[in-house]
Amino acid sequence: MNDNTPIDFAALSDAWDREHLWHPYTSTIDPLPTYKVTSARGNRLVLADGHELIDGMSSWWCAIHGYRHPALDAAAVAQLGRMSHVMFGGITHDPAIELGKRLLSVAPEGMHNIFYADSGSVAVEVAMKMAVQAAVSRSGSHVKTNFATIRSGYHGDTWNAMSVCDPVTGMHGAFGPALPVRFFLPQPRSRFGGEWNPQEAEPLRALLQERAGEIAALILEPVVQGAGGMWFYHPEYLREARRLCDEYGVYLIFDEIATGFWRTGRFFACEHAGVSPDIMTIGKGLTGGYLTSAAVLTTREVADTISRGEAGVMMHGPTFMGNPLACAIGVASFDLLASQDMAACISHIEARLAGALAPARSLECVADVRVLGAIGVVETRRPVDVGVFQQECVRRGVWIRPFGRNVYVMPPYVTPDADLDVLCSEMIDILRNTEWK
Ligand code: PMP
Repeated sequence: MNDNTPIDFAALSDAWDREHLWHPYTSTIDPLPTYKVTSARGNRLVLADGHELIDGMSSWWCAIHGYRHPALDAAAVAQLGRMSHVMFGGITHDPAIELGKRLLSVAPEGMHNIFYADSGSVAVEVAMKMAVQAAVSRSGSHVKTNFATIRSGYHGDTWNAMSVCDPVTGMHGAFGPALPVRFFLPQPRSRFGGEWNPQEAEPLRALLQERAGEIAALILEPVVQGAGGMWFYHPEYLREARRLCDEYGVYLIFDEIATGFWRTGRFFACEHAGVSPDIMTIGKGLTGGYLTSAAVLTTREVADTISRGEAGVMMHGPTFMGNPLACAIGVASFDLLASQDMAACISHIEARLAGALAPARSLECVADVRVLGAIGVVETRRPVDVGVFQQECVRRGVWIRPFGRNVYVMPPYVTPDADLDVLCSEMIDILRNTEWK
């Protein structure tokens, strides 16, 4: 239902929720409003008062096929009839095997072993543990255990993942000395699609020259930095990173949790650079946004080096590792992607977003507009008031959740053109009418 009746905001809030439920990054004293959603289908969220919202977020970038996709629903129901969960220690099952085969069929060259994890952040923890176990085993040195990364990154909210998030916009302020101290390099400023400045790789070279003996791995979000600032950088940085990591004996981790499954116009963002990591993390779109699940892929060399090391095994084993229900839905999601011309689909969305967001460039409050694949970003000069912005979005029938100075859309791939246009035009109109303090 989307008639001309105004949104019933009272029907969308819940006093018990406000009193007891902690939402992400939320104060209990002054929580941001939440809006009750009762169902979702395609690219629409249905609110408790019957109004629909055009979803611009893919539920934090994971619902790539939209909601209640018949093929994914059918896979879930079929798997429920067999088993929703069984332990992965000492047991295997077809959903894990089939999903693994599909992952390796699209993974960058060299990927050979798969470790299933239960969320993106846990996958990052696993990837970092892999790097340390392998680096210690390979070098025989117990000091080769630290990490390097670039500023403005985001890798998740668990302890080690936090430690490689941007030290300013991330959570270093709140956790301070409790976090391990990492090596932070400048963010590459050469834009994706722009000119490459060869100086950008120099800080990495200088760091590795001096400290490679202490560094297990360099961890990067390839091409697109997501929650750390929605920045798209030049793929040449990844090629340089690969060369330098090889030269100095440091592993390279690509965190493809946000960028995988065609979001940037390629299956994985590292394909823009044509380089493979030693370890990569995958999450979010892996189950088409249905269930929490993630995977860490690595080379035979890393896997066997860990296995020859002190522990002799990979030291991790979460309860819900390789969850059959999640894997079965993941297989269906893969097959859905394989049945479509995804390159054409994403380049169509890219062109549509680029056209529809272009008018934002003329707004005084806007610092930059950038589009890559199915990601459209409007960077504002000053931080956006999320509460005010979201209320206005809901009133207008769209769902967009900005952070800091980034107002962006990452819509489900099934979004019709008309809805892409509405998302962008409402976003621009709200920005135009915002009072900037
Ligand atoms: N890495 C990246 C690049 C991410 O964008 C995210 C989530 N936004 C994570 C890791 C953490 O994933 P999760 O929220 O599933 O723990």
